[in-house]
Amino acid sequence: VEIINEAIASGRTRFAFELLPPLKGDGMQKIFAAVEPLMALDPAYVNITFHREGIKETEREDGSVEWHVVRRRPGTVGISAAIQNRYGVEVVPHLICGGLSKYDIEDTLIDMDFLGLHNVLALRGDKSQNEKRFMPHPQGHAHAVDLVRQIADMNRGKFIDGEVEECHHSKFSIGVAGYPEVHAEARDITSDIARLRDKVDAGAEYVITQMFFDNAKYFDFVRRCREAGITVPIIPGIKPLSTLRHLEILPETFGVKLPEELVREVKAHPDGVREVGTEWAIAQSRELMAAGVPVLHYYTMSRTTNIQKIVKAVF
Ligand code: FAD
Repeated sequence: VEIINEAIASGRTRFAFELLPPLKGDGMQKIFAAVEPLMALDPAYVNITFHREGIKETEREDGSVEWHVVRRRPGTVGISAAIQNRYGVEVVPHLICGGLSKYDIEDTLIDMDFLGLHNVLALRGDKSQNEKRFMPHPQGHAHAVDLVRQIADMNRGKFIDGEVEECHHSKFSIGVAGYPEVHAEARDITSDIARLRDKVDAGAEYVITQMFFDNAKYFDFVRRCREAGITVPIIPGIKPLSTLRHLEILPETFGVKLPEELVREVKAHPDGVREVGTEWAIAQSRELMAAGVPVLHYYTMSRTTNIQKIVKAVF
């Protein structure tokens, strides 16, 4: 099932949204409650993020700090299958290189196939909190393009241990990430887009962008990608701003700039940040839709009341 081709074939802009798996120990009810109201609005698909381990600090009696590796959000594949089966919506689990060997990745993809999950967003993942820069797993991949190649190989029946004569697995449709405001580790925009082109040449069928708050950044990025020979759909990622802290966290974490007008609006309404963010996302979405993008991809933190408002206003 190729979600992007289906969305495009519909001839109109669709919407999709991205959720985090439940925190370890949480059940599925909260995530179902976040998904349920959006189902009536007909999403094209739902993405589920993939999380590597984090670090927890505890202070020893002598005042020194001890680090523990913790996994806070496992379960991407399980929750993806649960949502797909329960709601009949196509689900796109993310898969990352960080912390995983090629064998872990192959096993995960085999599980996904058996569970009927045939879409995957292939990412490198960020560095672990205790690393200065991203360190690949000793038996893993250093860049997302290598993960794309592994999945594309499996689509041709080529597994890590060799080829199988008759492959009964379904093919995965592969998506990748792109950065309108340039990835933090890239030398410059030209090389970042060249690396994106590598991922597409390796088998990615569409790109989802990092969040941006100024549509001009997206339009410029798409133009540059087209000039670089990237012809696949480029889906805009939209993050409705919802807390005052986002003013610092988003630029810091994702390397995105917030337009002055948005910052001014937020500061003028410190008690109504969620509303300001929702209105901004509605305006962004309307302009992108008018430009004919195939899908509007919304980032959530697993609370979706603002997404419901946006989708109702835009569609
Ligand atoms: P890559 O494509 O590997 O690029 C990483 C950097 O390396 C770039 O600067 C690129 O220019 C450079 N590069 C690439 N190839 C080469 C090469 N061969 N030689 C030298 N340099 C190279 N993270 C998660 O952990 N879980 C998620 O679920 C998740 N979902 C995401 C969804 C979207 C839509 C987006 C946009 C990001 C998501 N991320 C997620 C974050 C992502 O993992 C980080 O941004 C990460 O730092 C880069 O991932 P990538 O797949 O773009 O990496």
